[in-house]
Amino acid sequence: MQSDFQAVKIRIHAGRFFVSLFLSQEMDQIQLLDKTFVPYLTEAEIQATVKSLAARINFDYAGQEVVFLSILNGSFMFTSDLMKHITLPCEISFIKVSSYVGTQTSGRVDELIGLTDSLRDKHVLVVEDIVDTGITMDKILTLLRKQQTASLEVCSILFKKIAFQGKHAPKYYGYEIPDKFVVGYGLDYLQHGRNLPAIYQLKTEK
Ligand code: 5GP
Repeated sequence: MQSDFQAVKIRIHAGRFFVSLFLSQEMDQIQLLDKTFVPYLTEAEIQATVKSLAARINFDYAGQEVVFLSILNGSFMFTSDLMKHITLPCEISFIKVSSYVGTQTSGRVDELIGLTDSLRDKHVLVVEDIVDTGITMDKILTLLRKQQTASLEVCSILFKKIAFQGKHAPKYYGYEIPDKFVVGYGLDYLQHGRNLPAIYQLKTEK
């Protein structure tokens, strides 16, 4: 009687194991609208990198007050995680630009929306999700320079160095990545996927 019971228990455990294996294999790739994405950077990897970026910033700006200027929408998650590890006296502002449609960069930046306070004589660190061609960041920095800041630097979680054509590379970045479209951790595909805690890369068809 007892051995029958144990056999049933083993079968249930084995069943659970195969179900969870099946689910984790299913979750290896994700579908956003018409596109499939595969894992690229895990949540744990990203969190460790964000922590070390914050440590570098805390060290470099020691004794100074910093204005963190987060570029919406893409950098909301990165900014939130980064700021938890910043120990400097600081302000955080969110501004918005629009430059991207689908998987193709348009390189168009018209204005910075939401910049209400003067940045004159302040140490400003722009927080961005990704620097790709760098065209967007060049335009943002050109607009910000008019404010006569004490210093102006960029911190992005991702940097597509190979696609970069800009004048101002980010001083701080988490990962140099190849020229492939990524989503998650704030980055979207047609507004989808921003909530994912990890980063995924567009699956290339074989
Ligand atoms: P850039 O002007 O540097 O080419 O592109 C800047 C903006 O394009 C980024 O802030 C981001 O919103 C978007 N972008 C560039 N590359 C990617 C990518 O691989 N994935 C996603 N989701 N957005 C990207």
